[in-house]
Amino acid sequence: MRIGAHVDPTDPLAEATARQAEAVQFFLADPQGWKAPKPREDAERLRSADVDLYVHAPYVINVATLNNRIRIPSRKLLLAHATAAADVGARGLIVHGGHVNAGHDVAVGFDNWRKTFAYAADSGGFPLPVLIENTAGGDNACARHLDSLARLWDALGDHEVGFCLDTCHAYAGGEELLGLVDRVKAITGRIDLVHANNSKGAFNSGQDRHDNLTGGTIDPELLVAVIRAAGAPVIVETPGGVEGQAADIAFLRGQLGATA
Ligand SMILES: [Zn+2]
Repeated sequence: MRIGAHVDPTDPLAEATARQAEAVQFFLADPQGWKAPKPREDAERLRSADVDLYVHAPYVINVATLNNRIRIPSRKLLLAHATAAADVGARGLIVHGGHVNAGHDVAVGFDNWRKTFAYAADSGGFPLPVLIENTAGGDNACARHLDSLARLWDALGDHEVGFCLDTCHAYAGGEELLGLVDRVKAITGRIDLVHANNSKGAFNSGQDRHDNLTGGTIDPELLVAVIRAAGAPVIVETPGGVEGQAADIAFLRGQLGATA
């Protein structure tokens, strides 16, 4: 099981070394901005690295919304990030499930997801796996609760789509962690990546506030059980910089019996 962390994008491989990480996730552009990613000068070095790379799409992307002024640029930006992520040899592009605004029909949001994949298919398809991540908050989210996730996967039909399970988001979003992996896989058939995070917020609080693995409101043993059951690569998106994340990675290795 490859274990790593979300890191600063300046020199992701150095960040991996500092944490003894086998995988890193990073942004290719400002996560709060709409600018397309620029080609990276270290692309060749990243492509040939031993470290597994994952790219997280900007948070501003919401392909589900009925708001054209967000949805249309979101689609384009997601495809631009997919292209840029493939260029650095990333194994997956993680994107949040998104939501529709209050008063809007979430069914349209699921269909907008389908249209996003159809839009990408028109230009040859996404050049790497796109992993939709479950989210913690909101009443109109596409991937907070598992019943929504099932409707999303129904809408996506035959499109090739992966899933990223965030443990903090699941718990804070109100999904019981015990047996969660089986319930998710019954819907998606797969878990491609785990975002291993404890939660500062309480169960079903809707709060997206990550904590270190042995801190927070989730029993660390339960957290480890979910991660073990998922059997997928793991990225911690936890606080504390190099020290905090290295400790979380070491904790997980110890618990999972994995070797560096
Ligand atoms: Zn996450």
